[in-house]
Amino acid sequence: MFQRAQENRVNQMLVPGTTLETSVEAVQLSEQHANVYAAVGVHPNDALTWTASTLAGLEELARSTQVVAIGEIGLDFYRQYAPAPVQMQVLAAQLDLAEKLDLPVIIHTRQSLAEIWPIMQTWHDHLVHTHHPLADRPGVFHSYEGDLSTAIEITQRNFFIGISGPVTYKNASLKQQVTAALPITAILTETDAPYLPPHPFRGQRNEPAYIPLIAQKIADLLVLPLEIVSQNTVANAERLFRWRAIV
Ligand SMILES: [Zn+2]
Repeated sequence: MFQRAQENRVNQMLVPGTTLETSVEAVQLSEQHANVYAAVGVHPNDALTWTASTLAGLEELARSTQVVAIGEIGLDFYRQYAPAPVQMQVLAAQLDLAEKLDLPVIIHTRQSLAEIWPIMQTWHDHLVHTHHPLADRPGVFHSYEGDLSTAIEITQRNFFIGISGPVTYKNASLKQQVTAALPITAILTETDAPYLPPHPFRGQRNEPAYIPLIAQKIADLLVLPLEIVSQNTVANAERLFRWRAIV
């Protein structure tokens, strides 16, 4: 899989955790492979795995220099595996951790953007008022699901918008309209592997080698050469995660 990624000029990859256990695995993977980085965090669907020792466990893991973000964290009201108040508490604790460790956040939303965006605005206000360096690179809304006006507000607060495989689907006119109107300086490409494979791999297992299919769709929508989209999205990821490819 890493070889196929490299053959397709995908040189840096981020593996996020969804629980403390999978965060351990993500860090291990990142320490075994060059240009693979990790995020540590508890996903809203796994919010019920949160215990009194989870926060300390994540903080311990984040000492690895391969850890470049806190995530995935967020709210998910499509799959209500955990009650909303629990999801909110787990999110709040991890936003505090991100601030403490100066690490940007990878935000997961599903049918929850209207609820999470005010929380993130309050968090960003706090970062700005305390002159926290994260105010300039607070995070990314991964696999963005919302409308254009919220996307513009998000980018105005220095968050990035993650564009994933569904932008290539025939019926994805809203995603395509939103993407077409975004500044290239605000876009990150992502797979969300193993989920959300781009066309023509829909229904199969997704993997990093498919990133160029998403970049090409972004290039078509923004009417830019693929090379410009590649250069910008690589630079955007470096700005957010502060990583640099080892060649
Ligand atoms: Zn997610």
